[in-house]
Amino acid sequence: MQTLSKIDLKFEELKSRLGQIEDLEAASDLLHWDQATYMPAGGAPARGRQIATLRQISHQKLTDPELGQLLEDLRDYEKKMPYDSPEASLIRLARRNYQQSMQVPAAFMAELSLHQAETYEIWAKARSENDFAAVRPYLEKTLDLSRELANFFPGYDRITDPLIAYSDYGTNTTTLLQLFRQLRRQLIPLIEAIAAASPVDDGALHQNFDEDVQIQFCRRAIARLGYDFQRGRQDQSPHPFTIGFSINDVRLTTRTYADDLNQGLFSTFHEMGHALYEQGIAQELEGTPLAGGISAGMHEAQARLWENQVARSRAFWEYFYPWLKGVFLRQLGQISVNKFYQAINKVSRSPIRTDADEVTYNLHVMIRFDLELEMLEGRLSIRDLPEAWNERYRSDLGIVPRNHSEGVMQDVHWYSGTIGGMFQGYTLGNLISAQLYETALKTHPEIPVDIERGNFKSLHQWLKENIYRHGRKYTANELLQKVTGTPLSIDPFVRYIRSKFGELYRL
Ligand code: ZN
Repeated sequence: MQTLSKIDLKFEELKSRLGQIEDLEAASDLLHWDQATYMPAGGAPARGRQIATLRQISHQKLTDPELGQLLEDLRDYEKKMPYDSPEASLIRLARRNYQQSMQVPAAFMAELSLHQAETYEIWAKARSENDFAAVRPYLEKTLDLSRELANFFPGYDRITDPLIAYSDYGTNTTTLLQLFRQLRRQLIPLIEAIAAASPVDDGALHQNFDEDVQIQFCRRAIARLGYDFQRGRQDQSPHPFTIGFSINDVRLTTRTYADDLNQGLFSTFHEMGHALYEQGIAQELEGTPLAGGISAGMHEAQARLWENQVARSRAFWEYFYPWLKGVFLRQLGQISVNKFYQAINKVSRSPIRTDADEVTYNLHVMIRFDLELEMLEGRLSIRDLPEAWNERYRSDLGIVPRNHSEGVMQDVHWYSGTIGGMFQGYTLGNLISAQLYETALKTHPEIPVDIERGNFKSLHQWLKENIYRHGRKYTANELLQKVTGTPLSIDPFVRYIRSKFGELYRL
């Protein structure tokens, strides 16, 4: 019988400690899922407390000095293992998480999350009443706390760097500003050319579509695409999201509107992309912190790839449109697949980020990213924020929001999180998804024909093999370089939208 050496025992202890932290986090996520789906409204105060208690215990375990000592003791062990082995990857990731958590005092984290919960409540009410004055003092405190959080990580180049590192580790403000500037230069003339072209009629999507029938359609479609209902489920919630408690229990939610087919369909395909990612992680990583998505950008890329590159393509609807027509014959019977394809890809300069098309979407992100930096660096006060917001919408998109609810108060992020580090992941996701899909098509040029025939396995398999199964073994930059052979670039995305929308709008 083989006995474990002393160092192997230490590694087993590390795994067991990290496993407990994962369990606590999964339990608090499950409470959150319930809160967002089936919990009666009366449960809210107790639920907030229960989640906070679990988070506090997991934070204590994560910042336990004994965990720090174990990570020190395992340095030689880590060096002897291959870089991408589960062992070395786990130690590397755990060390990063440990160091990040140790930088920030627990009392500060408690104050921040209390403030965030309070602000969210105020915002939810104020937004419907279009009352920016009501959230202003809360947002001012959020700005102070965001600065304070960043300052626990001295030595940064720009103040947003440590905040970005929380969700998109490995990139920084300077790199992003440069990418965004290049992208903006490509987007503005394209948007102007589209605005001058003959407009697309998307009336087909705005009829009366029974919501239960929409849900049934989405369920059948995502099962066909590869979502595993034995290891997940689909429910309804006001804000669609995906959440996993294990590789074998990854759930998504959908939101439908009777008069807008876009919302139900594409939010479902989007969330399914997030869910396929987590369902596709290698089973050997189950129960460890490696069993998750690498970064906000890489996670978003998986969602956008299925939502946009796949589900907004003509090939996709060659296969699915007869299904959709079958359940909505009265509404779609007279509408051709081509007309439908145009409608779901309509470009319009609208004030709302979440409703934005593929061409204008990134401008919404850049506006927020720039404003965050200006606020954190003290060049823009919260008092002047609404005006600065409207001004940027005027100059970038040629529109002015009619009120704060569709302007500066539209997104939940600043009102439930920090200012800074919250938005870049969306544009990173769009760029990464195009870069990955271009590579997938180079290796498997048959993918579009497969999609047209309702065979999604070739693409799904490629993603599992190259992205999903690795979990968090690599950083986003490492994996992108490994899979596509180049660092992150705007070029694949620009090629993709130029070709697709150039054809759609006959530019
Ligand atoms: Zn997403």
